[in-house]
Amino acid sequence: MSVNQQAHTGPPYGQPQPGYQGYQQPVYGGQPLPGVPQSQYGAYNGPMPGYQQPVPPQGYFPSLGFPSKGSPVSLNSDTSSLAPNFIGSSRAPPTSGPPPPASGASLPSGHLAYSQFGHGDVQNGIPASAAPMQRPPASQLFLPGSAPTPVSQTSTFQQYGPPPASVQQLSNHMAGMTVGSTTASAPPPAGLGYGPPTSVPPVSGSFSATGSSLYTPYTASQGSPPTSVSQGLPLAQPPFPGQPVSTQRLSTQVPGFAPPPSSTGIGPSSYPPTTGAPRPPTMPGPPLPGQTVAGPPTSQPNHVSSPPPPTTMSGLHPGPPMSGLHGPPPPTHPPQPGYQMQQNGSFGQMRGPQPNYGGAYPGTPNYGSQPGPPPPSKRLDPDSIPSPIQVIEDDRSNRGSEPFVTGVRGQVPPLVTTNFLVKDQGNASPRYIRCTSYNIPCTSDMAKQSQVPLAAVIKPLATLPPEETLPYLVDHGESGPVRCNRCKAYMCPFMQFIEGGRRFQCCFCSCVTEVPPQYFQHLDHTGKRVDFYDRPELSLGSYEFLATVDYCKNNKFPSPPAFIFMIDVSYNAVKSGLVRLICEELKSLLDYLPREGNMEESAIRVGFVTYNKVLHFYNVKSSLAQPQMMVVSDVADMFVPLLDGFLVNVNESRTVIASLLDQIPEMFADTRETEIVFAPVIQAGLEALKAAECAGKLFIFHTSLPIAEAPGKLKNRDDKKLINTDKEKTLFQPQTSFYNNLAKDCVAQGCCVDLFLFPNQYLDVATLGVVTYQTGGSIYKYAYFQLETDQDRFLNDLRRDVQKEVGFDAVMRVRTSTGIRATDFFGAFYMSNTTDVEMAGLDCDKTITVEFKHDDKLNEDSGALLQCALLYTSCAGQRRLRIHNLSLNCCTQLADLYRNCETDTLINYLAKYAYRGVLGSPVKTVRDALINQCAQILACYRKNCASPSSAGQLILPECMKLLPVYLNCVLKSDVLQPGPEVTTDDRAYIRQLVTSMDVAETNVFFYPRLLPLNKADVDSDSLPAAIRNSEERLSKGDMYLLENGLNIFVWVGVNVQQGLIQNLFGVSSFSQISNTLSTLPVLENPFSKKVRSIVDMLQVQRSRHMKLIIVKQEDKLEMLFKHFLVEDKSLSGGASYVDFLCHMHKEIRQLLS
Ligand SMILES: [Zn+2]
Repeated sequence: MSVNQQAHTGPPYGQPQPGYQGYQQPVYGGQPLPGVPQSQYGAYNGPMPGYQQPVPPQGYFPSLGFPSKGSPVSLNSDTSSLAPNFIGSSRAPPTSGPPPPASGASLPSGHLAYSQFGHGDVQNGIPASAAPMQRPPASQLFLPGSAPTPVSQTSTFQQYGPPPASVQQLSNHMAGMTVGSTTASAPPPAGLGYGPPTSVPPVSGSFSATGSSLYTPYTASQGSPPTSVSQGLPLAQPPFPGQPVSTQRLSTQVPGFAPPPSSTGIGPSSYPPTTGAPRPPTMPGPPLPGQTVAGPPTSQPNHVSSPPPPTTMSGLHPGPPMSGLHGPPPPTHPPQPGYQMQQNGSFGQMRGPQPNYGGAYPGTPNYGSQPGPPPPSKRLDPDSIPSPIQVIEDDRSNRGSEPFVTGVRGQVPPLVTTNFLVKDQGNASPRYIRCTSYNIPCTSDMAKQSQVPLAAVIKPLATLPPEETLPYLVDHGESGPVRCNRCKAYMCPFMQFIEGGRRFQCCFCSCVTEVPPQYFQHLDHTGKRVDFYDRPELSLGSYEFLATVDYCKNNKFPSPPAFIFMIDVSYNAVKSGLVRLICEELKSLLDYLPREGNMEESAIRVGFVTYNKVLHFYNVKSSLAQPQMMVVSDVADMFVPLLDGFLVNVNESRTVIASLLDQIPEMFADTRETEIVFAPVIQAGLEALKAAECAGKLFIFHTSLPIAEAPGKLKNRDDKKLINTDKEKTLFQPQTSFYNNLAKDCVAQGCCVDLFLFPNQYLDVATLGVVTYQTGGSIYKYAYFQLETDQDRFLNDLRRDVQKEVGFDAVMRVRTSTGIRATDFFGAFYMSNTTDVEMAGLDCDKTITVEFKHDDKLNEDSGALLQCALLYTSCAGQRRLRIHNLSLNCCTQLADLYRNCETDTLINYLAKYAYRGVLGSPVKTVRDALINQCAQILACYRKNCASPSSAGQLILPECMKLLPVYLNCVLKSDVLQPGPEVTTDDRAYIRQLVTSMDVAETNVFFYPRLLPLNKADVDSDSLPAAIRNSEERLSKGDMYLLENGLNIFVWVGVNVQQGLIQNLFGVSSFSQISNTLSTLPVLENPFSKKVRSIVDMLQVQRSRHMKLIIVKQEDKLEMLFKHFLVEDKSLSGGASYVDFLCHMHKEIRQLLS
């Protein structure tokens, strides 16, 4: 162990590792020098369009640049060059310029004694006057008017000004583009995204028809675009004209699954007679006369308007041969659904029989296999199966205009895709809690029968739109919040005051508790406390309590938290310009740390560490003229070499911090160090927080697999051959338990770890992410980071991550009323017992999904209650409790369950369940289990709720009619069914991301939003109506935007008008469009403005800055884009929507027979 308390007392950079053996081959996994970086999966972080140097000129790949094995490299060269740089602050680089060339620009090394460095009060660095630093000069970056609004407001993030991606930067892109955009020498973007072109061949067959016919403008053969047509599907038709309407409301029947004509009048042949009976399409759902549905109708007002009446769903599309409303299938329709395997991943425009389609479903039990001989039959019309777009649009028009008022028990909220306002009248907003069902079966038998998972997706610190009120903070003084004596539930609107208000009966456990004298209040004639509306905890679904000291660790109020920035300064990080970029950004960003309410400045203290195979701590005490560095090279036993001066107030130490951030990039400019440590970095942050007795967050910027000798050292164990074997699960598991133990220590201290990864090869996200995951942190990954193309995205992520609302040392518990209890939890957290979800940090984007099981019978009258209580430390160090309450209905009829489900939430749960499953089971097992569970859900509905009809019909519950299409998207996602181009790290990354996603995020992640840009109205603020994710919906004369929460694609058809191309890209022809753009050019015309505003609007809605990728039709990169056309058959073997729907139908029928 050696520490240099003062730099001049010893080597400033600790131990020059004399035994250093030079570059170790394994860092790069022993890969040959590839012309194309291996499998950069672009979907998530991947194709770096600007990546144009497959073989970087300097020392990037093993055989180049670096000293070969065995030739000792003196680290002294690295360290000795520090001092001059360190001192020469006047030589500070242009703020956002590219990094200096790795080899050149080396400053004279060794001269100018480093002894000057660290001479506390000696003026060697920037004269103090050089950095007067009031409020930062960089504040221009932030739009004016960025008043200290609560951090929980989205607008806060928007205020951080637009990225400096303006004209100048663009010209850089353009300059770079000419090099590689068209030649094959540079890795083509498509190759980056989807691996070497050799991975494409199997695809080419299936996509052979990519050409003209598929891109025939939709309107040409359809008459009207599908989106403008009520293109749903007939719901379960009433068997007889007098059939209670309610039955229809519940169901959706897919016409392609029609029974033979001989069926009992329910099948297609019976359509005509029934067409007269249904209500007009637009008629709002009436009360349900004679409905057997239990439960007071008044308690379900919202569902009445949510599902559209069935008749609106009848196939309205005019295209032959499925013409007309309720058009009966042709008599030749086979008894079984006449669908076939798709040959080309998409549907052509032909709606008629397509002889090329083989492998008819009934005859091909091995679903998904190669098609057999093509029996001539008609394929299922994609327009006749449930359309996500239609459902989304219907919900928007039905429910988007009125506020969602939470006063009534068991209301199903509008979909996450609908913009609506929430009025809290006693239940938590759906922004905080969404449930898979708002009507819970009374018994566990019923729940088991239905197989519908009972789960809540909870986002305790969710950001609210500015129009909605943040939870009120209630201060009960020293006595603290009022709670039930037995179950400790917090006072809430559902507690019953009795005996004139002297006692209250717990709504969760029924225990009666005395009302504390200071809390006593009289009741009015209805039994309500007269102060009901004055107290948030009596009248609102969500509120906060100020916690007393009893709720604090060691019975001591917490100190304000700290942020520690820990920057990898190894060769890769320095060379890519990352280190300089981070330091420049921090100079301004530190003025935007989260602050409480109206506080003038943030209470958060900051600290700085850099590292490679040793750690450098910095003393930035305000009294110093220059920062001091302390090196800890004994990484095996990490400790913090300084206490005083490590964590500081930004304003007080502004000058010293600025000086440090200026000097760090210079200090390491000539580093040759490629080996880095990782676990000691976390340990260092943890120890620093321990020493300061506070919670906090580590922001670690890290580039590669930690192979340096140290605790938590890892080896490259990536092995794609394990895919589809029983050992595949090991790819998702950490390779050592070391990080699990470290995570536990971090949680105990309230040390949350956010990880920004910049890998150029495998770095084992599954292992590195363990601590992040278990401490409630976030991982960001920028594969093949390139300054030009990726800095915007990274900086936006960093800004948002630093500024966003976050709670520390959090513990969440979900209490439930008698009869159900929380049994399982999904998300980024740690659990040391079965009830408490612990998170070192919990930010406004993090979601926890909780599953419930019965432990007793529920009662229809009393319903079921949830109370989520989150104890946390605010960014100012205030200990608080945030409470969310939600009341649900209970039912004895399965139909009521199926009527009040929410498919988006169900998918959120199922995806998380499956993504956890891959840790222990082969992915095929996981996929099969998912399919089976959903088949059971739908079969149970069919058996118990749908009107009797032929088995040939597929009948789906109205509010679950999108379950098959969404489930299919989960099944073929990269975690569960990876294509050859997806890296192990990508899968681990996605797996962790999804686990913390809320419902809106999973919705768009699994079923991306596809917007036709040509239809964008340049005069309005609205987005164009989305279209379905299928290649057949694309016209080669149009441009489209697709977003999934991580990426934004702009797809350009080959026949797009020149004028539009000019307007959007500023070039005169299709061929000149660069697909290496990472931002759209800023052009002064309405179309450009509109598209850029759409992009900005989408960026603001997401918790991460999405990567913009330009895709030209028939370009190689298009393969990547097609991966997101999720209704089509996928390259990795994932089924098309139509195929999958048929498969589900078959599964359901098997269950029913
Ligand atoms: Zn209780």
